[in-house]
Amino acid sequence: MNTVPAPLSSTPSEHLLDRLAAIVGSAHVLAAAADTLRYETDYRGVFPGACRAVVRPASTEQVARVVAACAAAGVALVPQGGNTGLVGGSTPDESRTEVVLSLDRMRAVRRVDALDGAMTVEAGCTVQAAQEAAAEVGRLFPLSLASEGSATIGGVFSTNAGGEQVLRYGNARDLALGIEVVLADGRVLDLLGALRKDNTGYDLKQLFIGAEGTLGIVTAVTVKLFPRPRKVVTAWVAVPDPQAAVQLLARLTEAVGERVTAFELIGSGALALVLEHAAPGMRAPLGEVHAWSVLFDVSEVSAGLDPTPAVEEVLAVAIEQGLVIDAALAASERQAHDFWALREHVPEAQRSEGPSIKHDISVAVSRIPAFIEQADPALRALLPGVRIVCFGHVGDGNLHYNQSMPEGMGKADFLAVEQAMHALVHDTAVRLHGSISAEHGIGRLKLDAFVRYKPPVALDTMARIKRALDPANTFNPGRLLPQSLLDPR
Ligand SMILES: Cc1cc2nc3c(=O)[nH]c(=O)nc-3n(C[C@H](O)[C@H](O)[C@H](O)COP(=O)(O)OP(=O)(O)OC[C@H]3O[C@@H](n4cnc5c(N)ncnc54)[C@H](O)[C@@H]3O)c2cc1C
Repeated sequence: MNTVPAPLSSTPSEHLLDRLAAIVGSAHVLAAAADTLRYETDYRGVFPGACRAVVRPASTEQVARVVAACAAAGVALVPQGGNTGLVGGSTPDESRTEVVLSLDRMRAVRRVDALDGAMTVEAGCTVQAAQEAAAEVGRLFPLSLASEGSATIGGVFSTNAGGEQVLRYGNARDLALGIEVVLADGRVLDLLGALRKDNTGYDLKQLFIGAEGTLGIVTAVTVKLFPRPRKVVTAWVAVPDPQAAVQLLARLTEAVGERVTAFELIGSGALALVLEHAAPGMRAPLGEVHAWSVLFDVSEVSAGLDPTPAVEEVLAVAIEQGLVIDAALAASERQAHDFWALREHVPEAQRSEGPSIKHDISVAVSRIPAFIEQADPALRALLPGVRIVCFGHVGDGNLHYNQSMPEGMGKADFLAVEQAMHALVHDTAVRLHGSISAEHGIGRLKLDAFVRYKPPVALDTMARIKRALDPANTFNPGRLLPQSLLDPR
């Protein structure tokens, strides 16, 4: 059997760093601890590492030469974009042998075409900068997430990121028209292009999307653009329970169809935490923290059409029938922004609160209430006083189902139950035919769960793809696919 070796564990020689410097310029090979530090720690501070060096190429050609040089030296590469990933995939391990390949100098928007509805963007361009480039030609790049100021095109496509508008526009996989990737042997696979239809063999771009940097280095992506909405109705709604939220989504969809652009559920634990750590001026839109809130957007692209009356009617009937307790429509763009700021501050508020245990499960939308009904009491029995921070993209069946420490508990005691909590939450999702990861991926955080829940045939197929494309295991070893899957059986 063709196997994938673990990359050499010896420290790369100074000779390699000289070669890298000759490719990218010595100013862009960082080896001093003060320079590498920010590339070595993940957003949550859960995976502190130490790399041999950070290399910052400025072009696809430089990436190709860097990859070839590292492959020849048997040195592992850890691709990194904005380093906002939440599963430890973008930072080096502690061995000081890995080289971080940062795409942060490759930020160009190569081409924007309103007629094609397509834009080609380099990997290091932030999502926000890509949104702005699309807006300049009157188009929408709809991928939108709370980390968009730092998260990059390379990162969001390598993790198949979702975000807040998946309901209408799909996730990263749905938004890709083409891709450019540097392969493990240093060749460039150029599949850029704005084709909507192409039936010439396997859709190779989809292999690299969501591969978490294990199959190649994404250097550019051609993305789909859309018409910009002319009118957006944003509502903050209190509902009695998650079942009512799911029913409200169905009614809205019946009334306005695909205009439902985002539909988020926010539990009281999440909202209370945001208000506790809130910036001045942030307040609960309905004056009090209800057990469950929904935040949704309905957007209209056609001139002269306004979905407001249809939304108001849905809400009025829902209030009459007890599906909705109270609701507020944003009266201005500013107010809509304030509503969304509450939702987007949940991760930051939870970070301010100290250690947290995170899950990003998905189930069919109709099973969201069952998931919460089963997981909440089981968690409370496991750890009395645990604070459940539940929020997420309920329109996609995806919950961020997180736990913060009980008041007064120490970090060590809390983390002692981490594995039991993961098992409980993941078992519940899988029992309901769901997934252990809807957005964040596997990285290093979920390796055990990945092997436990993914069908063996799927794991074996992925391992075969990895062996074929990266036989020396140069790209992100030990992330996504554990070494045990790649070893000979
Ligand atoms: C506040 C906050 C909110 C978030 N909200 C969401 C959300 O709503 N939805 C969601 O899906 N995620 C969310 N995330 C997670 C994170 O932002 C996304 O996973 C994002 O896609 C990561 O982009 P990045 O550029 O920071 O990638 P990084 O963190 O740098 O890397 C992520 C992974 O991709 C690989 N990689 C990066 N660039 C490349 C490349 N050019 N070629 C090959 N591999 C590469 C890395 O090796 C790593 O495995 C959130 C994170 C934070 C901190």
